[in-house]
Amino acid sequence: MDYKYQGIILNKKDIAEVDRIYTIYTQEAGKIKVIGKGVRKPNAKLAGNLEPITAAEIFVAKSRGMGKVTGAIPINIFSRIKSELDALHRVFYVFRLIERLIPEQEKDEKIFKLFLSYLNELEKQETGNGKIDILTLGFLFKLLDELGYRLEAGRCVRCEKKLAPENNYFSIARGGILCRHCAAKETRRIKVNSQAVKLIRIFLSNKLENFVKLQVSSTDINYLKAVINESANWLAESPKMFDNFTKIL
Ligand SMILES: [Zn+2]
Repeated sequence: MDYKYQGIILNKKDIAEVDRIYTIYTQEAGKIKVIGKGVRKPNAKLAGNLEPITAAEIFVAKSRGMGKVTGAIPINIFSRIKSELDALHRVFYVFRLIERLIPEQEKDEKIFKLFLSYLNELEKQETGNGKIDILTLGFLFKLLDELGYRLEAGRCVRCEKKLAPENNYFSIARGGILCRHCAAKETRRIKVNSQAVKLIRIFLSNKLENFVKLQVSSTDINYLKAVINESANWLAESPKMFDNFTKIL
């Protein structure tokens, strides 16, 4: 059987003499792994169209076991992202998270569209103005939401009182923001400022394309990064998994 996918190439791994296994997030089948036979031969043309951070139309032949890539037509190679170290680091963090948190063969068109618009928006940004961070953080909060981890940022997750605009706390175990009083009764919690809490609410109820208009301070960004790191480590069920990325994201 032949299949055609719209996909984003996440990762490649060399196997055998001249082959590669590709991890691809597709619109039609979610995350898949396929084999590229002979793609590492010097004259092989296919490999260039299957580099990580490429959106492509991918053709796969499949009978038993892993599908075999027979062709790929790049739609966007995201050359700016690939040439900007800041963007590249964040995208690899996102890819790593997707590889870790999303199981194979679970189709989700909303996640595919969100993922593609994240890369498309990132591709348009200049570095050094904080927009890359805002987009990445906004994308990650929306992704967690789509994956079923909606963080409560309107009311305290413990006493359900409306959160006051003051320093509050985030608890991943509780799945959201705690008021000052309830935080005192929790052991695992991290501090967040009121602006970061407001931004989480904005991220969860607005389109990703609008996030670049937000004015966000580096302090707010750091609080949001801490919330994402805490969530990623918790969800990956491996406390050390994402520690290396704390400085990047
Ligand atoms: Zn409370």
